[in-house]
Amino acid sequence: MQRLMHWIDGAARAPGSDRWLPVHEPASGRVYAEVAAGGADDVAAAVTAAARAAPAWAALSNSARAAWLERLAAALEARIDDFAHVEARDGGKPFVLARDAEIPRAVANLRFFAHAATQFASESHHGEAGLNYTLRTPLGVVATISPWNLPLYLFTWKIAPALAAGNTVVAKPSEVTPASATLLAELSGEIGFPPGVINVVHGSGADVGDALVDDPRVRAVSFTGSTAVGRRIGARTGAALKKASLELGGKNATLVFADSDWETQLGTLVRSAFQNSGQICLCGSRILVERGIYESFRERFVAEALALRVGDPMDSDARMGPLVSQAHFDKVLAAIERARAEGGHVLCGGHALARPGWFVAPTVIDGLGPDCATNREEIFGPVVTLQPFDDDAQALALANAGDYGLSASIWTRDLVRAHRLAAALRVGMVWINTWLMRDLRTPFGGTGASGLGREGGVEAMRFFTEPKNIGLSLE
Ligand code: NAD
Repeated sequence: MQRLMHWIDGAARAPGSDRWLPVHEPASGRVYAEVAAGGADDVAAAVTAAARAAPAWAALSNSARAAWLERLAAALEARIDDFAHVEARDGGKPFVLARDAEIPRAVANLRFFAHAATQFASESHHGEAGLNYTLRTPLGVVATISPWNLPLYLFTWKIAPALAAGNTVVAKPSEVTPASATLLAELSGEIGFPPGVINVVHGSGADVGDALVDDPRVRAVSFTGSTAVGRRIGARTGAALKKASLELGGKNATLVFADSDWETQLGTLVRSAFQNSGQICLCGSRILVERGIYESFRERFVAEALALRVGDPMDSDARMGPLVSQAHFDKVLAAIERARAEGGHVLCGGHALARPGWFVAPTVIDGLGPDCATNREEIFGPVVTLQPFDDDAQALALANAGDYGLSASIWTRDLVRAHRLAAALRVGMVWINTWLMRDLRTPFGGTGASGLGREGGVEAMRFFTEPKNIGLSLE
């Protein structure tokens, strides 16, 4: 059976303990590989390698580091299909989604941040007393911890700016989807990346997480994952006075007004709810609909959800694959049962598919108010609720209900209303008449239980560097 190893100091390494974790194929539920069950000794070895490599990497020019990232991007781009296969088998996402969107976006992450580094200038201020200028220096060793839903995309989203800014990295991918990060690390070895600059330690959060976060040589932690784990990491990094970027869960609202072009935009609205089986932190899971169109919207939306083809990740017509794991499948089905118990009407779906693997039918529920657990807690699966509203104020109140504050989308032709609501929504990102429009320069992140800090563009470059101001008398 295939064994996925750590990548430490430019080479594949078995775990010190010789313990391995099973890796499942969500489409069948079968174990298809094993991944290193890392522990504190593996973390220490990886941090040691990263610390040793840090001075030489930091001493390279920005353009030399950019060239390394460009080489890695090109090597990845040449193998998009291989990586898409790996992602489809490991996480159950449709192969076409991985091939056409997620892996190309991982390539784009490497390229964008490669060049962001060459264009990242220090600030300087010429004042009455003299000259101030600010240096931004690398932090040294940084840790990146990523989840299973967009494995390679989020892995590159973090390591690219960290490396471009001159840091070395110890990355911990999710133990549920460890394959694509392993393959990218191997690829970095094939193209001769300097050893110790990129290190990957596998294993469970419980066994690897604290050791990595607590290692005093790790100067910053960039984490994407659940709110519960984010709180734990934030508490530890806070106590140690080290930087943390926390990109956490969401319970995003989709506000659909009667004057919108919702009928022609229905495809995007459905995609915004069910892409990657709803396992994207930005999916809209609370759909708020103006009462005048509520009945007709509900009918059309449910019909579109029923028409979504759920199938094997390798089926090019499948729009949704399975959920990522048995544990997540159980959690999503339990959330549907809870919705029923809370009085929700399941309009479609609400059940697993009668086949092997962890497939859940697209599920639309209505009849629930804003205070129930179904509308307050993240489900992170193909489960959405519909709620009617009467006016802008009620739409805003419903959208802002709850602890999360990641993103929202507004669908209306009245742009004054759209901008007014966008300003009042308590979230980090808003889309108007679109969803998940990407521009790598924009700040990415949420507020409240959705996290702390922003990634993307200059925000990421700031996070991964330490500013130092220098004042010089000109008298
Ligand atoms: P998770 O928090 O369980 O795990 C995320 C990562 O943290 C994994 O690598 C895991 O092994 C590790 N981890 C677990 N315990 C740890 C600990 N004690 N210390 C350090 N690391 C630990 O999340 P998940 O189930 O993998 O991912 C789903 C969650 O991620 C959802 O809540 C989703 O909303 C969120 N997410 C957020 C964003 C965003 O940008 N805001 C993007 C994608 C996913």
